[in-house]
Parts: sequence; structure tokens; C-alpha cells
Amino acid sequence: MNSRTGILIVATKNAGKVREFQHAFVPLGLTVKSMLDYPELPDVVEDGTTFAENALKKSKQIAEALRLPVLADDSGLCVDALGGRPGVYSARYAGEGASDEDNNLKLLSELERLKQGEDTGQPLLSTARFVCALSLYDPSTAAEVTAEGAVDGWITSEPAGGGGFGYDPLFYLPEFEKTMAELTLEQKQSISHRGMALRLLTEKLAAQDTLGTGK
Ligand code: IMP
Repeated sequence: MNSRTGILIVATKNAGKVREFQHAFVPLGLTVKSMLDYPELPDVVEDGTTFAENALKKSKQIAEALRLPVLADDSGLCVDALGGRPGVYSARYAGEGASDEDNNLKLLSELERLKQGEDTGQPLLSTARFVCALSLYDPSTAAEVTAEGAVDGWITSEPAGGGGFGYDPLFYLPEFEKTMAELTLEQKQSISHRGMALRLLTEKLAAQDTLGTGK
């Protein structure tokens, strides 16, 4: 983030993520820009084996291209019955360019296959975890600030809710008796992997006075 311009650049084209970053940073007086505002920049190849590795690759590559500090988020869903898949492949689980709906259908069909005993015979209602790794990279100092958050839940067989994005309609939170897509944005931010990572990151930045908002 750039305390002089009041602009925070986030290395994502995912509109759902952008909404959540705006929700977190606009109250701090920052304007959030994303890769949707910089269509000329090439996509980052996400070939890391961990969320943190991919987050750093995105923040560093875009920050060096723009010569400005950039925040990146690499996140995904790890389903226990699937040995942690789709994990870092969450965005392209059903193939390159897959929609959220394609990915959700693929997840349900994989779990259904397991239920029918064609695979390991694991239960359909599987425990799962959303993970979010954040990386803020400043090209002028080559300094990286990182934070990670996670939230546990279950994968339902019936999608529910129209909020959020990605796998939210399938991610059931027993404490709310709702899926992530049935929560308000405020509720999601208060318990989500991204909300947790953002709180940790802003705490670290406040300690360094990097936000420069005077708050
Ligand atoms: P990335 O852009 O490579 O980090 O991919 C993230 C993918 O993980 C998204 O496209 C979603 O499929 C999934 N994902 C990450 N965060 C969330 C979330 O908050 N809700 C639902 N799905 C998410």
C-alpha cells in the first residue's frame, strides 16, 4: 500500500476478492485497485506448491512491473476426504478457465464418487478448510510482509446462498448453521480465512506504521 497516494494495489482479477479487500481497506481511507485496472499486465503463472509461495510470486511480479507496493492473496479450499485437494489448484479445479459453478460441480462429483465407494470410501460430508496467504511486497526495499488465515467447516451436498464467491455456497459453518454464501460480507470477514489474514496483516503494518493512515 502506498501511504502517499492512498492507493492499495491488489494482484487479483477475482471480483469476489476485490469486494472483500474494498470492504477491509476503504474504511481505512485507501482506494483499492486490482489487476482489472491494469489489463496490460501479464497473468502471473501460479506454479508454487504452497499458498504462501504463490502469494509472494504474485505480489513480487506485479510490484516490480508497476514499481509500487502490491498486495497479493493466494487462497483455496482444502478438503480432507480429498487429501487436501483442490488446495492451490482451487481456482482451476475443473480445468483452466473454470467458473465457480464448474469447480463446485467438480467438487460435488468427486465427493459423490468417494461416497459410492469407488475410491477410498470416505464420507460425503467432508471436513474442509479455507486457507488464505497474503503477501505485501515493496519493490523499493524488497521487503515482504506476510499473513495467513484459515477457517474450518464442512462441505455440504446442497449449495446454498447467493453471497460470496467460489466455493462459499458449499462451505457449511456449523456455528452459524449456514454456508459461507449465506453470511453477510461483515459476517464472512469476521470469521473467514481472508478476514483473519487481513487482520494479522494490518496489525503487522500498524506496528510498522506502514499503512500511514494515522489510524
Ligand atoms: P487464487 O486466485 O489462485 O488464489 O484462487 C483462489 C480460489 O480459491 C478461488 O477462485 C476460489 O475458487 C477459492 N477461494 C478462495 N477464497 C475463497 C473464498 O473466500 N470463498 C470461496 N472460494 C474461495
